[in-house]
Amino acid sequence: MKQQFAVIGLGRFGSSLALTLTESGYEVLGIDKDEEIVADMATKLTHCVVADSTEEDVFRSLGIRNFDCAVVAIGDDIQASIMTAILLKDLGVKMIVAKALSTLHGKVLERIGIEKVIFPERDMGAKVAHQLISPNILDYIELSKDYSIAEIGIPARLSGQSLMELNLRAKFGLSVVAVNKKKGIVIAPSADIILEEKDIIVVIGLNEQIEEFENKIS
Ligand code: ADP
Repeated sequence: MKQQFAVIGLGRFGSSLALTLTESGYEVLGIDKDEEIVADMATKLTHCVVADSTEEDVFRSLGIRNFDCAVVAIGDDIQASIMTAILLKDLGVKMIVAKALSTLHGKVLERIGIEKVIFPERDMGAKVAHQLISPNILDYIELSKDYSIAEIGIPARLSGQSLMELNLRAKFGLSVVAVNKKKGIVIAPSADIILEEKDIIVVIGLNEQIEEFENKIS
């Protein structure tokens, strides 16, 4: 059975999330109190309804308990976001994801017991800042406060070197988990793989050592 998602609040974030889930083949119920927004999204999602998510009966009548995951994507109206999250929690929805606008908003959502609280604006801001400071770092995932996985573009002057010559483990404590080449991705590459300009290496390691390596090659 296909996983079923409910997305509550179809603003810029919610609608983009709901569309991506639909395009990936999942069943998506979109809920928004704004009729115009729902009319616009109606043909694009599996189901779309006009409803105020702060009214408990709304969720009961939609059978929200049966959904695999509900996403609270209400932004500006923090009160509505928190009330919606509590109602979903009380109804026993298995997995709830909620978007927070501020640290305090996030803390409240965590206290209610929301499994996954996300901060899209804050995280995207940090990501763009990292990319501006370190242009060779194309993307990264923070694993913990100290460790990340980063995608690093290989500049021209490292072209022709093998992983062994680069010696990232000894010099920077970084492990290369994949090399993305024009021809395709090589997972767990061997030490003799030759890097070319514009290859992308995926490394895992301490944030400061990733930065140190990046500084060295920029
Ligand atoms: P974004 O920054 O992602 O665009 P917004 O806060 O602008 O987020 O949009 C959130 C959406 O949530 C809006 O379309 C709004 O109509 C909807 N919304 C807000 N409160 C409720 C509610 N109580 N019930 C249903 N939808 C709501």
